[in-house]
Amino acid sequence: MKETADWTYRLHRIEIKKGDLVLSDQESATCAYIVETGAIAVEDRASSTPNYTVGPGEMFGEYGIIGDAVHYSTARALEDSILMVVTQEEIEEKSAASDPMVHLFLNFFMDRCQSLTVRAIGSEEQNLKFHSRRQHLKESLQSTQEEIVSLFRLKAELERAIENDEFVLHFQPIISLRGGFTAGFEALIRWQHPERGLLSPFHFIDTAEKTNMITPIGLWVFKEACLHSLKFNETAANGQSPEVFISVNVSARQFEDDKLIENFRAVLEETGADPSKIQLEITESVLMTDADRAKEMLYELKETGFQLVLDDFGTGYSSLSYLHKFPIDKLKIDRSFTHSMLDDQDSLEIVRAISGLSHNMDIEIVAEGIETMEQLSLYRDLDCHYGQGFLIAKPLPAEDVYGILGTRMKLSGQI
Ligand code: C2E
Ligand code: MG
Ligand code: MG
Repeated sequence: MKETADWTYRLHRIEIKKGDLVLSDQESATCAYIVETGAIAVEDRASSTPNYTVGPGEMFGEYGIIGDAVHYSTARALEDSILMVVTQEEIEEKSAASDPMVHLFLNFFMDRCQSLTVRAIGSEEQNLKFHSRRQHLKESLQSTQEEIVSLFRLKAELERAIENDEFVLHFQPIISLRGGFTAGFEALIRWQHPERGLLSPFHFIDTAEKTNMITPIGLWVFKEACLHSLKFNETAANGQSPEVFISVNVSARQFEDDKLIENFRAVLEETGADPSKIQLEITESVLMTDADRAKEMLYELKETGFQLVLDDFGTGYSSLSYLHKFPIDKLKIDRSFTHSMLDDQDSLEIVRAISGLSHNMDIEIVAEGIETMEQLSLYRDLDCHYGQGFLIAKPLPAEDVYGILGTRMKLSGQI
């Protein structure tokens, strides 16, 4: 899937009269040009085609984008023309903000071009300047190079972790704020790293997303959650306790995979898990990136039988009114609101508005990150449906889940 580009350009235009010179050979360079209208004749010493004409949409004077370079061409307007100025500064900023691999490639490639040109037609002084710039470039690219190397090292480690079965799921209870009983669990991945010990997702989910390893890891999480759902519910049924759901995080990157739904369905078939006992937690970015595609996929997932939960709600950009377009069953209020709502009136108002409106929209609320009894009481006063947080329980290894199936938390003095 192609992401929609969201670039902004600091466009600056110049008008050139027919016959005027735009740049000349050996002039020190600070920008390149894109022709908007008109035509420019270029005499280029650095090119295998020494004379050419550029027209609308074409670029010339590209040496101007390389720091400390000089032009090796002369350019003159063949007719009245309008040119867009592309500054070195703007390209450097954009290159630095892009994918580190693109950033490295651009810099190495520009360095290679400049090196060839300077060696072939540059002066002694230009040669010296180029070599001092190369030293500076080496230093400035060091952190990008390290970033790329460590990203790929971690990717290889993640591949190995899947093969060696080093991931585990922990389960954090989610209780009903109405009755206090354990309604379900959020499945949270951990990595039992052979040298670094048990790692939280903070250390690897981001890399898994950047390297697309989130697709196989996410599928592993889903399958493992299905298998645990069967075991937890079998134990619950044997003990005549209420059934429980398992909530699985599905990252936005996984939605880019056309096979996501097909793969989930295959796992349901293979394991025999009941999709009505599985919830999928997605984030607002899924809805924002390609709303039509997201809508279609979410309806298909609903049709398959899953419940859909919008995680970390309030941190993104979607508004409640936008939500009615999507088949969302539950909203998880981000834990930053839970943290601040007792001291900060604005946070409290947001939480109040979210819970009020979602009641009207028939969407259930899950309050995340409850750490104190005061926070829990406030969510109960706002009539939120579910609560999750360290006050109730930390994420637990699967073997500790069996002991709490069917238990109830004492929510206040009266219960
Ligand atoms: P999340 O989905 O918002 O999960 C809740 C996070 O809040 C968990 O962190 C949980 O341990 C933590 N938490 C729960 N209660 C409290 C509390 O009372 N106070 C505080 N301060 N924190 C609390 P964890 O396990 O480190 O997971 C972090 C994030 O990693 C998750 O945020 C989720 O975005 C991602 N993640 C975890 N497992 C998976 C997974 O299997 N797949 C994907 N794609 N992402 C995952
Ligand atoms: Mg979550
Ligand atoms: Mg969350």
